[in-house]
Amino acid sequence: MKREDLSGLALGGNKTRELEYFIGAALAEGADVFVAGGGVAQSNHAVQCSAAARRAGLKPVVVLRPSRSDSTRGNHLLNIVIGTDIRLIEPAVPGDGNQPRGEGLAKQMDRVADEYRARGNHPYTLHSSFHRLGAVGFVDCSVELTRQLREAGVEPQRIYLTSSGATQVGLALGNKALGTGIRVIGVRCGSVGADQPSRMVELGSRAAEAINIDTRLAPDDIPSVDFSGEGYGSPSPEGYEAMALLAETEGLFVDPVYSSKGLAGLIHHVRTGQLGRGETVVFVHTGGVGVMSAYGDEIVANLVHRQPR
Ligand SMILES: *Cc1c(COP(=O)(O)O)cnc(C)c1O
Repeated sequence: MKREDLSGLALGGNKTRELEYFIGAALAEGADVFVAGGGVAQSNHAVQCSAAARRAGLKPVVVLRPSRSDSTRGNHLLNIVIGTDIRLIEPAVPGDGNQPRGEGLAKQMDRVADEYRARGNHPYTLHSSFHRLGAVGFVDCSVELTRQLREAGVEPQRIYLTSSGATQVGLALGNKALGTGIRVIGVRCGSVGADQPSRMVELGSRAAEAINIDTRLAPDDIPSVDFSGEGYGSPSPEGYEAMALLAETEGLFVDPVYSSKGLAGLIHHVRTGQLGRGETVVFVHTGGVGVMSAYGDEIVANLVHRQPR
């Protein structure tokens, strides 16, 4: 397991490596405020942005949609401790392309940035982590992982992780450029548009240009498996099973929204023989554990009556 959940910022997670570059870009612009957003109040991205901003001496601002916005739990609680300027906007309307009522999230971030600008601040606005610099962060990860595997004398055939974005793109691009032959399989934890593979290939090209390498991704380099269940943010039975299995066998945690679904995808491939006995895999733990208490009631309801092994 590659422990991106131990990234060293807040409660850890994959956004740390991405933020190394976003914070760098903000500092290069002379920013003093870092504006980010999230589709949900329990967003891992938002809390990692806030923590990274604080580490670099920038004021954190996050624009969030208020689903599960109980501020005494999960990442919302962490944002309160960090002292983030939290702006809760209108919830998304079902059937409205998941856009919030009125303006989209990006526009609302721009509006808050304008507010700070009017006060004499220099805000840097990060609209989305689906960004070439986010992918570059995970090219770094692929280099680090390749070195660690070599030192350990381990030669995996596959990497599994929860991703439908920059994390998988960066790892796939890095592995292809390094010629490791490792397949990087992205487990989906929510629905994506039909054009997502082509968007990811395009993101890979932009990341490759940013670091000046000739490698380009093809759709076959970013295979995916769908474990979204009832959708983004809804825990799944397979995810709960993976959560319990990992805790009971390794004493480690995966969260109900992201990493448990990724691990469930890996387990499914083992059970269905798509992953053979002789094969070695790396599970990239992308983090998310900060959200667990926000799902406390559901986790208890699903796991308290089981018979632990
Ligand atoms: C954001 C996130 C992911 C997925 O990242 P992508 O942007 O899809 O690559 C996976 N796990 C956790 C815990 C996350 O917060």
